[in-house]
Amino acid sequence: MNTIPLLRDKVAFITGSSRGIGWAIAELFAAHGAHIILNGHRDAAALENKKAALEKQFGVKTLSYFGDITDTAALQNFYQDIFKTFGRLDILVNNAGILDDKLIGMITDASIQQTFSVNTFAVIHNLQLAARLMRRNASGSIINVSSIIGTHGNDGQVVYGGSKAAVIGITQSAAKELAPQNIRVNAITPGFIETDMVKQLPADKYQERLAGIKMQRIGKPSEVANVALFLAADLSSYVTGQVIGVDGGMVI
Ligand code: NAD
Repeated sequence: MNTIPLLRDKVAFITGSSRGIGWAIAELFAAHGAHIILNGHRDAAALENKKAALEKQFGVKTLSYFGDITDTAALQNFYQDIFKTFGRLDILVNNAGILDDKLIGMITDASIQQTFSVNTFAVIHNLQLAARLMRRNASGSIINVSSIIGTHGNDGQVVYGGSKAAVIGITQSAAKELAPQNIRVNAITPGFIETDMVKQLPADKYQERLAGIKMQRIGKPSEVANVALFLAADLSSYVTGQVIGVDGGMVI
């Protein structure tokens, strides 16, 4: 890739980066010279392969957290590994997320607990741990991946929408609290992006979503990654507390 590196020698932790939007962000950030910390929780060998691929292709350093992002004790230890390995953290992308569509009558406590644990509580824990490291250098960028469902809702998505709406409140409050330390916090609200997550949708729901997009096509993970790059880099040095939609005109 022939680009001006926008993130040379920055250290970036991207949660849920084994595939989909998270992996697209990891690849793009590495292409721009960032050292990458990957996270996955299902396939350790696959994560190792992805790590090796980034090192080989982009010559950057890597580290990985193979584990559940909701395991707060393991996460706390891992941030110590980040500090020991790199001595700093410049960028956090809270990307890991799960979807568990259920009509109101079908919502279970287990679904609420699990969805909020991954989509919301882990965002707060990572933010807290990352801010501790970023404060040391009085600089940082935190990017929270919310969803258009968090801003506009959808039937069958009370739990998911609630968990993603909370991410916006978290973003705005953290942005206010961390701005004096030069740590910026912003959110992205993707619309309908072609990843394994949307492959779970029944065909009629898929077509219904597509029909609501003014640009008349599903988005690519790389199109979300481009916005994350802008928010991670100094290009957005005076941008904080913002919620940026990447939805091809689903909501205008
Ligand atoms: P995906 O299912 O392809 O990827 C989700 C990632 O999160 C995977 O890497 C998965 O391993 C990881 N993850 C899930 N639970 C985890 C856990 N407990 N611990 C660690 N990692 C975990 O989905 P995606 O579409 O790439 O989604 C990425 C983010 O974008 C999510 O937060 C999602 O809610 C959000 N989003 C996606 C869309 C879309 O249309 N694809 C739209 C709006 C928002």
